[in-house]
Amino acid sequence: MSLIDEARAIARANQRGPLCRIAQLLEAHPEVKDELEEALAEPMLTGTAIAAALKSRYGNDAPTAQTVNRHRKGECNCGSQ
Ligand SMILES: [Zn+2]
Repeated sequence: MSLIDEARAIARANQRGPLCRIAQLLEAHPEVKDELEEALAEPMLTGTAIAAALKSRYGNDAPTAQTVNRHRKGECNCGSQ
């Protein structure tokens, strides 16, 4: 890794924290991707509702409402939104 890439990676990590829990969830459960994207795109659903639904299905693998909201706004580092 070049110095520039390394510095960029560190800057990104400092700015945005650890890998988004949604990205982690999708890595562990790729089958939920389409459903989750649909839910995230639905303005009537709050982050709290989505997080609660994910928690009932995936337990501790599920992201928090805060993470869902951050992901929706593109403030996380997973790059999928
Ligand atoms: Zn994310």
